[in-house]
Amino acid sequence: MNIVILLGAPGSGKGTVAGRMHESADGIAHLSTGDLLRGAVKAGTPAGVEAKAYMTKGELVPDTIIAQMVADYIAENASLQTVLLDGFPRNVAQADMLSDLLTSKGITLKCALMLEVSDATVINRISGRRVCPTCGAGFNVNILPPKVDGICDACGAELITRADDCPETVANRLNVYREQTFPLIAYYRDRNLLRSIDGEHDDLDRKVADALKAIQ
Ligand code: AMP
Repeated sequence: MNIVILLGAPGSGKGTVAGRMHESADGIAHLSTGDLLRGAVKAGTPAGVEAKAYMTKGELVPDTIIAQMVADYIAENASLQTVLLDGFPRNVAQADMLSDLLTSKGITLKCALMLEVSDATVINRISGRRVCPTCGAGFNVNILPPKVDGICDACGAELITRADDCPETVANRLNVYREQTFPLIAYYRDRNLLRSIDGEHDDLDRKVADALKAIQ
């Protein structure tokens, strides 16, 4: 197994690009820790119950909870070729935990891929974001609208805005990103693992092609 970390602000398009990379190239899996946590919250697991309070405020859930979830996923999916980590690690402590985990399992960290976007784009993207509560598909009314307004293309359910995409929580998530996640750019650059692509333009096919090239 190879690991590729996706870095970028909330709303930078990590999930959309990773989902499309998974669809367009064989052997690429996509693990979104946000999706994993939302699933745990929905299912009411002990980890989900604990995580919910942090997520509602736009704070990071405790490192040990999320690191254990990622470790379980890797153990259960050992035969996967490449796993795109979307949303993990989120701070230097998690990056160290990941490094220890991968070393203990003999797994290679191929690179950390940064999606570069401006603050204005991030705000615009998050305000347009809609998700399907049934199948998890993601849309954006500004750049990736569903075929029928407000309805999921994949399963026909009514789309919703994520609870933590409200303006107050978004502001906090961006602060958390700047303070805790941004230092990971230097962390991976220092280890010669940082790659970056332009995430600013709206052409998803081009971004996916750039991303696939960058992680080769
Ligand atoms: P996301 O879908 O990646 O924007 O994540 C949504 C929320 O889940 C975040 O605001 C955090 O509360 C939580 N979360 C996701 N990944 C992590 C992580 N690696 N560490 C801590 N909290 C996380």
